[in-house]
Amino acid sequence: MTKNTINHHPSEALLADYASGAMGAARSLVIAAHVHACPRCRALVETAEAAGGEMLEDLPAAEMGADALDAVLARLDTPAPQPAPTAKAEAPADWIRVPDEVAQAVSRKRWVAPGVWIAPVDTGRPGGPLSYLLRVGAGMRMPQHTHDGCELTIVLKGAFADGEQLFAAGDLAEADDDIEHSPHITGDGECVCLVSCDNRLIVKDWIGRVVATYAGI
Ligand SMILES: [Zn+2]
Repeated sequence: MTKNTINHHPSEALLADYASGAMGAARSLVIAAHVHACPRCRALVETAEAAGGEMLEDLPAAEMGADALDAVLARLDTPAPQPAPTAKAEAPADWIRVPDEVAQAVSRKRWVAPGVWIAPVDTGRPGGPLSYLLRVGAGMRMPQHTHDGCELTIVLKGAFADGEQLFAAGDLAEADDDIEHSPHITGDGECVCLVSCDNRLIVKDWIGRVVATYAGI
């Protein structure tokens, strides 16, 4: 069921940040899901990665500090991050494809209100950047809310409308604290989104409260 109907893409700045590897873990999950679903952005990321590689090759050798080798060796000695749990989690088949960490989060879902569940995604940094799955039932409206800092949302299943704009599976919504809105889920069925932000969430609204409670922040 490949639907090439993605209308909302990350900015080129976000894609470049992602391609460079500098993007935080939480936001990278959202961009990774979009890039997998979107041939246009996948091509842009591949181009940026290739360009980044060439830039590294062009760097003069003198740029490297005398202690660079020690630093690299020290990093090699650092234990690798804990491997993912052995159980290979599968996200529901009617979602767009998601990174493994996101699929594993499904087992942590908790119903927090009628029609709404939330599942925190383990980005390997407890207390750090926040990433969570949010499921809202068909036809429901989210309360008016704002964001602290930049927040990225990708639709994994279903669709929501925000003002004049419709966000369907694969679409990415970027919101910052200038935006105050009240998206509503279309009547066709449930909507599941992956939401990530590299800033700590400032609890202001009901979504913030339930996320803070269930995401363990
Ligand atoms: Zn795209």
